[in-house]
Amino acid sequence: MITRNQPLWQQAMREAFRQPLDLIRFLELSPSDVDLNLKPTFAFCCPKSYANRIKKNDPNDPLLKQILPLNLENAQHLDFIDDPTGDLAAQTNAGVLQKYHGRALLISTSACAIHCRYCFRQHFNYHESVHLKIEQKLQTIHENVEEIILSGGDPLMLNDDKLNEIFQLVANKKHIKRLRIHTRIPIVLPERITDDFLMLLKEFPLPKVMVIHCNHANEIDNEIKEVLNKISETGTVLLNQSVLLKGINDSAQTLIDLSERLFEAKVLPYYLHLLDKVAGAAHFEVSKQTALQLIEEVKTRLAGYLVPKLVEERAGFPYKIAINNDKDF
Ligand SMILES: *Cc1c(COP(=O)(O)O)cnc(C)c1O
Ligand code: SF4
Repeated sequence: MITRNQPLWQQAMREAFRQPLDLIRFLELSPSDVDLNLKPTFAFCCPKSYANRIKKNDPNDPLLKQILPLNLENAQHLDFIDDPTGDLAAQTNAGVLQKYHGRALLISTSACAIHCRYCFRQHFNYHESVHLKIEQKLQTIHENVEEIILSGGDPLMLNDDKLNEIFQLVANKKHIKRLRIHTRIPIVLPERITDDFLMLLKEFPLPKVMVIHCNHANEIDNEIKEVLNKISETGTVLLNQSVLLKGINDSAQTLIDLSERLFEAKVLPYYLHLLDKVAGAAHFEVSKQTALQLIEEVKTRLAGYLVPKLVEERAGFPYKIAINNDKDF
């Protein structure tokens, strides 16, 4: 029986793959096809919906590579560290990150629907801040903040009652002009985008932006496209951020296909991030020079609004740093 306390999406989370070997079997692969990290510090998690979009019997599938814990994670690289973006240092006691002018990022939960192996927050120590009441977090926010960013973890792991409470509190703060939600959930757990949630979004009185996280066109099948269309119909501006990942989306054609697929789903490309140098993710790194060549080719082939900004995060800077090689004419 499905009760109000057990929405379908929470059931989908309970049924997610938690053991890499179960996913390997589901994908008709053999354990010898992949060199698994059997004791990863960052746990494995993959919902069925995402698993269904991974090609069977292909250890190099770009969706699989984003989530499968490999032994490569254990290689030591001195410049890959636990907190490459300086977020731990910038976090206030209330779980608020205010690194940039006018925007405050709220760590609203530590939970995610999927665990991405390159995640820059994978070693983040959340537990001191996430359980603080949202009122307390909002009280600490300065009057010059015009935009609240809900992040995490993934804020859509919170249930609708909790989100409703947060939305009300944000809407009642006089100096807040916009709400932004950073989430990978429309891509990895489409069940979560329920009619009730869509109604919540639609009724939220301020302009709202949702920044999703999608790295490859194969992540958007017709079901996901439909979900994104529905979000767009609530009057929410949809943007995408990707991470440039070796062996996953490091070709101009892959990036072009991604931009085009996103646009079909009513999402505009926003940022293409150079990998944050987080411990365990060195095997995903694409050099800055290669990144520049790729984005150059994408620029020559796509309309300007389909080209994401290639950016890099450097601890201590007041914005994400654009990487480009445009010549001065
Ligand atoms: C990326 C980020 C933002 C948002 O930056 P935009 O350039 O406005 O997208 C805000 N706060 C923190 C801490 C961030 O890391
Ligand atoms: S969904 Fe986002 S926060 Fe969660 S593991 Fe993936 S990259 Fe990290």
